[in-house]
Amino acid sequence: MAYVITEPCIGTKDHACVDVCPVECFYEGPDQLFINPDECIDCDACRPECPVDAIFPDTDVPSEWEKYIQKGVDAFKKGDLKVAITREKWEKEKGVAGTVANTYYQKFKK
Ligand code: SF4
Ligand code: SF4
Repeated sequence: MAYVITEPCIGTKDHACVDVCPVECFYEGPDQLFINPDECIDCDACRPECPVDAIFPDTDVPSEWEKYIQKGVDAFKKGDLKVAITREKWEKEKGVAGTVANTYYQKFKK
């Protein structure tokens, strides 16, 4: 089993989950964060931190978001994802033009 990030993360992506993960298994995707299924230890620390309830155990993903289980596996196939930065760093980047965070919210913000 592993935890999975689903659709509500897209456009929110506030990195609150990153700070509480004991094994640093959150990674930066273009539209959402991803949890590495081979590294997650199912500790449940991240789930209550998410403001939009995007995180679920892979055995309990709502049916309309089940495709995010495979998306979260496929995301790691190339091996080029970077470990997600902390929420503090992400927040700082948001206001700086040209950074990954600033560009992200221009493209995806709900
Ligand atoms: S369940 Fe625990 S180990 Fe898995 S991603 Fe969340 S905080 Fe990290
Ligand atoms: S806390 Fe939720 S919305 Fe924020 S980055 Fe993590 S999964 Fe995405």
